[in-house]
Amino acid sequence: MNISDDFLKDLIKPRSSIFMEMEQYAKENHVPIMQLMGMESLLQLLSLQKPSTILELGTAIGYSSMRMAMKLVEATIVTIERDEQKAELAKNYIERANLQQRIQVIVGDALEISSESLGSKKFDAIFIDAAKGQYKNFFEKYAPFLHDGGVIYCDNLLLNGLSELPMSEVPRRKRTMVRNQHQFMEWLMNHPDYDTAFFPVGDGMLVSIKR
Ligand code: SAH
Ligand code: MG
Repeated sequence: MNISDDFLKDLIKPRSSIFMEMEQYAKENHVPIMQLMGMESLLQLLSLQKPSTILELGTAIGYSSMRMAMKLVEATIVTIERDEQKAELAKNYIERANLQQRIQVIVGDALEISSESLGSKKFDAIFIDAAKGQYKNFFEKYAPFLHDGGVIYCDNLLLNGLSELPMSEVPRRKRTMVRNQHQFMEWLMNHPDYDTAFFPVGDGMLVSIKR
């Protein structure tokens, strides 16, 4: 069977107007929000998992955190963004959607902020979607904040196709990022404390269940 991407995309239901506006904004301003099919898949997995607390690394303009909050109507989300302008935009969108009670935006570099800003909170799910090539650092810093049985989701393992090229065809300045992403994937797939599967949907997602 051969189903085209366009056919599949047409089957995805339209989002509410604020999300359509954010998708348009992201497209025009080259903000790498989650691809539609990857987003739908993540939301479906989250519906199965039913986390009540989620930590997101990489808010951008708030698209994925708001989509998660709309899908999981009881969940609260903490999301971290280092780009002040993007974080400001995210806060505006979040208020417009009246989600400010359930989504907390922390402005700062996730690798530098003191983890005390998270309080003594633990999370049922962690979504890693920040700087590509640094996922191992994010994972090691934030995994202690995950409940046993919790799930860590990581986006962009395919790096827009870069990940699948022979290294000689990857632009030099991107090789370290690609290598890091590959090493992270290998490390995590072999990690004794996590049961991990790779989903080649959207830009490639890893789903790791903490044992
Ligand atoms: N999750 C968003 C997209 C995030 S794009 C969505 O799907 O809607 C990645 C974002 O991560 C960018 O906005 C970038 O500024 C941010 N980022 C990258 N490295 C970071 C870090 N170390 N700490 C916090 N944010 C970071
Ligand atoms: Mg992403």
